[in-house]
Amino acid sequence: MVTIHESEPYIQPLNEIWYKPYVDEVSMLRLDVIHPVISGNKWYKLKWNIKHAIENGFTGVLTFGGGYSNHLIATAATAYAYGLKSIGIVRGSYTNSHVTSTLKTCAEYGMQLVFVTKGTYRSMQDKESLHDLQKEYSDYFIIPEGGANEWGREGAMEIARYIPESYTHICISVGTGTSFTGLRNTLLNHQYLYGYIPMKERNYLELSIRENILSANNRHWQLFNNWHFGGFGKRNDELIQFMNHFYEVNKIPLDIVYTGKMMAGIYEQLHEGYFSATARILCIHTGGLQGNVSAQHLLEY
Ligand SMILES: *Cc1c(COP(=O)(O)O)cnc(C)c1O
Repeated sequence: MVTIHESEPYIQPLNEIWYKPYVDEVSMLRLDVIHPVISGNKWYKLKWNIKHAIENGFTGVLTFGGGYSNHLIATAATAYAYGLKSIGIVRGSYTNSHVTSTLKTCAEYGMQLVFVTKGTYRSMQDKESLHDLQKEYSDYFIIPEGGANEWGREGAMEIARYIPESYTHICISVGTGTSFTGLRNTLLNHQYLYGYIPMKERNYLELSIRENILSANNRHWQLFNNWHFGGFGKRNDELIQFMNHFYEVNKIPLDIVYTGKMMAGIYEQLHEGYFSATARILCIHTGGLQGNVSAQHLLEY
């Protein structure tokens, strides 16, 4: 299978000023650099889905997302790259004047957008409705929201290839938990995996993650949701200031929905003495920078 990488992921050490004297090392695995649109963990989750679709004779993929969805835009671009048609079921109605730049780009990649209300969006993803949808679009392979299926987890396992054994703590932002689960199933047992949830809900996530973690790997993992900053997609001045400061010190742009909140959490944990002084932390930059357009005027990068 062709690889989409424009640049190979790499590990970038953070400036010592940011974490000394609390821990030995904090570095970032830059998955955001692999492609301007198909960025971060989304590529890994999609690639096995796309492979499965092609091998099984589907001529398109159908998936779900919101108006700023990193998954939707990555699906549109990946499908385009592989010569597949794509349909995006979008939560909420975006008329011409309100269309987001994310959705505009999706359309440019040939994605057919179908706008539905929040209620319909939710009910369409019931088992029964998905069955009907599959009948209606029999040429399309249906990928769940966020690429959250076995192929998504399979792809996420590949991220572990870039994680050296020497790191004691691996930190990643959690949306559907697909990447988190794939990683826990692959990382070495002695490595702690910490997940940072950028939304208020957490119980259902904990359950679905627990369901999909292999029993042999079911330890050394933990989820935090103290740093949602008001909820999914919400932000405040404190978060913006934090992200600008982080960029100034480390020269790494964070995204406002996921990695900005995760790094704010880690920063607070460092100062609270949450990690031991010998900890070597690897934070995963899962991408999503395209979603920063809505806050671009506030960001200094
Ligand atoms: C989608 C996304 C996540 C969450 O990934 P899951 O596998 O759904 O948990 C984290 N960070 C960014 C930037 C994302 O776009």
